[in-house]
Amino acid sequence: MHNSSPLITKSSFGALPDGREICQWTLTNTQGMTCRAINFGGIITSLNVPDRHGRLGDVVLGFDNLHQYLQPHPRFGALIGRFANRIAHARFKLDGEVYTLAANKPPHHLHGGMVGFDKVVWYVDEFIRQDGAGIRLSYKSPDGEEGYPGNLKVDVDYFLSNDNALEITYRARTDKKTIINLTHHCYFNLSGQQGDILHHELQLRASQFLQVDETLIPTGEIRSVAQTPLDFTNPRLVGRDIAQLNTTGGYDHCFVLDNPDDIHTPAATLYDPASGRRMELYTTEPGIQLFTANFGQNAYLGKKGATYWAHHGICLETQHFPDSPNRPDFPTVILNPDEEFRSMTKYVFTTP
Ligand code: BGC
Repeated sequence: MHNSSPLITKSSFGALPDGREICQWTLTNTQGMTCRAINFGGIITSLNVPDRHGRLGDVVLGFDNLHQYLQPHPRFGALIGRFANRIAHARFKLDGEVYTLAANKPPHHLHGGMVGFDKVVWYVDEFIRQDGAGIRLSYKSPDGEEGYPGNLKVDVDYFLSNDNALEITYRARTDKKTIINLTHHCYFNLSGQQGDILHHELQLRASQFLQVDETLIPTGEIRSVAQTPLDFTNPRLVGRDIAQLNTTGGYDHCFVLDNPDDIHTPAATLYDPASGRRMELYTTEPGIQLFTANFGQNAYLGKKGATYWAHHGICLETQHFPDSPNRPDFPTVILNPDEEFRSMTKYVFTTP
């Protein structure tokens, strides 16, 4: 399918228990690639990308309906904030004041708390340009929400360009000194959700990773990936050494990117030899949390009757480092009232 111009359509996706309507937007580019997203949690519900024969396939995990997204799940496709990843013991200090957050991953804080950005309703504006179609998701997080200081105004753009790239741009402003770390929690499966991702090839421009304790809090040590299962400096099968990571049941590690801010070289490349789909990821962020859907024995009933077992998807969460608010030696996550927070991650799909 080829359109002469990019398109945006909107339809109902059901209602929340309190009656608020949730809608789904479909962005379609001139090559027929589509990206669907809802205003609940900013969730990307599907991403249809051509394979080497030009056949579209949905490369992200998720559910068919709102009801399922309202049940507990590991944040399929969602926007994550105010603070992605962990904050040790659910507290941090800013200018001498201690802030206490929800210990929703006991004893730590994870992904913004009980009602993070993945569970709030975003205001959505549409925009069409010659080179693609997009939506802007906006949310005003009140001072003290989930324990974080400052009224925070967040704008996130999802832009699907005509050259098959999805660009996510995050912007935020606060009226009081605060902390921020935003990311996206898409679980990719480039085969079109068929089987696991153990035969995907991954390359990461990261020669180091953060050493963590058994509760996944960084110890402060930054280690070389050489001679470890975390060495993705050259393309390697995700499943090659995954069994060695038995305490986490797979990858759940933060990689330190070699060239943060270099948005012209992929920070990560994921390739599925079976379908020929390749995804290159470009980012302004200093780190990537690699999470291989380590569900253990749990499984989720996903879209179109698919069952998502462990390792059915792979998250490449671009972000600042976990527990940064308690680690002055890590790149700063502080946002001051006179600054604008800005971050960008771009996912480029090709069939080489
Ligand atoms: C975290 C995992 C967590 C998962 C689901 C990932 O970003 O690193 O530890 O289980 O999100 O919330």
